[in-house]
Amino acid sequence: MASKIAPQPGILDIALYQGGQSHVPGHANVIKLSSNENPFGAPETAKLAFAKAAHHMHRYPNTDHAALRAAIAEVHNLEADRVICGVGSDEIITFLCQSYAGIGDEVVYTEHGFSMYRISALAAGATPVCVPERERVVDVDAILGAVTKKTKLVFIANPANPTGTMVGMTELTRLAEALPPQAILVLDGAYAEYVEGFDGGATLVESHDNVVMTRTFSKIYGLGGIRIGWGYGPQEIIDVLNRVRGPFNLSEPQLAAAEAAVRDQEWVEKCRSENTRMRAWLAEALMELGIPSDTSCANFILARFQSAAEAQACDAFLKDNGIIVRQVGGYGLPNCLRITVGDEASCRRVAHTIGRFKGQDI
Ligand SMILES: *Cc1c(COP(=O)(O)O)cnc(C)c1O
Repeated sequence: MASKIAPQPGILDIALYQGGQSHVPGHANVIKLSSNENPFGAPETAKLAFAKAAHHMHRYPNTDHAALRAAIAEVHNLEADRVICGVGSDEIITFLCQSYAGIGDEVVYTEHGFSMYRISALAAGATPVCVPERERVVDVDAILGAVTKKTKLVFIANPANPTGTMVGMTELTRLAEALPPQAILVLDGAYAEYVEGFDGGATLVESHDNVVMTRTFSKIYGLGGIRIGWGYGPQEIIDVLNRVRGPFNLSEPQLAAAEAAVRDQEWVEKCRSENTRMRAWLAEALMELGIPSDTSCANFILARFQSAAEAQACDAFLKDNGIIVRQVGGYGLPNCLRITVGDEASCRRVAHTIGRFKGQDI
């Protein structure tokens, strides 16, 4: 049937997002290390707040998220009016593309950058522009070489996913200051909490009128399943994003759990230090097996194999042994596997299993 019904331009170019696999047929005791989730789950404080909020589920949620924004502002020393909360930081990325990029506009991201940047740009009808990295690290000069009068948004995750690498604040400041006047620099700080003392780019937001930071409760806070994130930026930009935000985009249980979680900085400390310890252990164990990785600043390691075939064979071997990691061929890294840093037992099991794959016992 010939149909005149067609979606907006760009939408059919979107490849569906591939989530981390969570089941292996025939295995009950599966370890899932494919989605960078917190191995310790969510903090008890957040679970309690979520359960309590269930008593009010017949009521519409509040629309301004004032209590959560106040808690975020207090903990991070930010201005509450310039915080916006969304259904994961994914929704903040969507708001940015929807509000600032349309047909004929360009959205810049980097070679191994997070897949949502491209998806959101295409959904808004804009043209995604992919810029090369230098040895798996964001290259500011390459980005500056690619920006044009049509560039509206530049997305950088810092630390980056799936590489785990970071680019320094001096470089990012240079980028913010050299961008053309119509472009916004978006710093995605999904893994910022894993870097001790790092503000995710908040200082750069404070000192520039063209920088926005996004953050999430999905990673160190262990709330990926209830979908909540936030953004911070100049007042004019946040006011624009609030116009496209659905008034009831977040439910009370989400808001309550996130508020409890952000106030639980003791939990964050504990998860960060345990992640740092096991990440170093895992990187070292893999190195001894002849599998190098860049120094990761996040809660995963990008293990580099000798070839795409070896990476795939190792992935299959791990699956046969009930361990799920992430293939990252879709991110231009076919010879790599991204392995989330689990708890100590999971780290030991994944290293031991890769050792057996390599024909060595560790
Ligand atoms: C996991 C991740 C996010 C988080 O997305 P949510 O929608 O908040 O769950 C954002 N950016 C990057 C780079 C990520 O890896």
